Amino acid sequence: MKNLFNYIKLYPSFFNWKIFSEGAFFSAWGHTRAPFSVNFQITDKCNLKCKACSFFGSGERPSSCANEADLESIRNFLLSISKYKPAVSFGGGEPFARGDFLEILKTAKKECGLKTIVITNGTLLGDETINIISGSKLTDYLVISLYNLYEKHDEIVGVKGAFEKTLGNIRKLVKLRGVELIVSTVLMEENARDLERFAGFFLNEGVKKIKIEHQNFITEKEHEAFNGSAVFCPGTFIKKGRFDEQFIKEAWDVLGRIRKAYPSVFVKPPLSRKEFYGWYGADPAAAGKCHFIKHSFFISPRGLIIPCQYFNNCVLGQIGRDDPIRLWNSMNYRKAREIIERGSFAMCSRCCK
Ligand code: SF4
Ligand code: SF4
Repeated sequence: MKNLFNYIKLYPSFFNWKIFSEGAFFSAWGHTRAPFSVNFQITDKCNLKCKACSFFGSGERPSSCANEADLESIRNFLLSISKYKPAVSFGGGEPFARGDFLEILKTAKKECGLKTIVITNGTLLGDETINIISGSKLTDYLVISLYNLYEKHDEIVGVKGAFEKTLGNIRKLVKLRGVELIVSTVLMEENARDLERFAGFFLNEGVKKIKIEHQNFITEKEHEAFNGSAVFCPGTFIKKGRFDEQFIKEAWDVLGRIRKAYPSVFVKPPLSRKEFYGWYGADPAAAGKCHFIKHSFFISPRGLIIPCQYFNNCVLGQIGRDDPIRLWNSMNYRKAREIIERGSFAMCSRCCK
């Protein structure tokens, strides 16, 4: 519930009463009748090399994407779900690395009337794109991911000048006021001490909301216990062990100060002190249940329907081939939900969904 209210405050235009009116069906079947949100990883391509990227390993990012879902199948898919009005989140990779991304966005927004959110690193937005997005209100939210200020950010994303580029684009977007901007970051050892300054900096720049996500990770021991069955990128996701006590204490204090000073900073998920210590202390007893798979799904860059980005080898269907609503309510999907729930996977206890 805490997470749901946080979500509604962060993305108020996604709220509709359907969320509550689905209650009876949800209790009987354990999932909603149709997905509330669809998370489309629209491409593998990206121009940055973030240390914290959960999508790739620590090597080079692809500059092309083999068998990427094409515009026509994406359009057909969006039309087929449009009457159920899910919110569609476009991420990647970097969505603007796709040459036809504005076309996809136009289809979702103008042709299908869907609520949309775009998650971007903000470096590839040229003036023309900024004007189109702001002028035609092509997305309800533009979430720009940043990890720290200036060179410290560049060091984390592995590209010099990336911060300045994104900051310049944020300034243009703020000035045009055509889209609601959210700056998003992840709590890391590399930025924990700077997060107060980071939040203050962007609020001062005119950004209305900041989102701080908790870090998804599993320990080496947990990874071994899975026998590598979950899909992770070793360079970015697997930590030797838990975070040390000193970091946990300092980070908790930092978040407390930020919460007090800046009401428009959202921490996702909004953990209690006990949950926070359990999360970063890699306490198995802190494992929670997954609600995400009961109301939303992911689509991979190749158009494969998967329950969650961390189970991308659990392919349930394909856009353009399968009816997404029939699939959502199918026996196979139900089985996948049961397995994931029963599995008590370690990453599910540290998931910000
Ligand atoms: S910008 Fe996003 S997709 Fe690209 S490397 Fe960074 S985290 Fe990964
Ligand atoms: S990682 Fe686990 S808890 Fe998170 S969305 Fe996926 S299945 Fe659900």
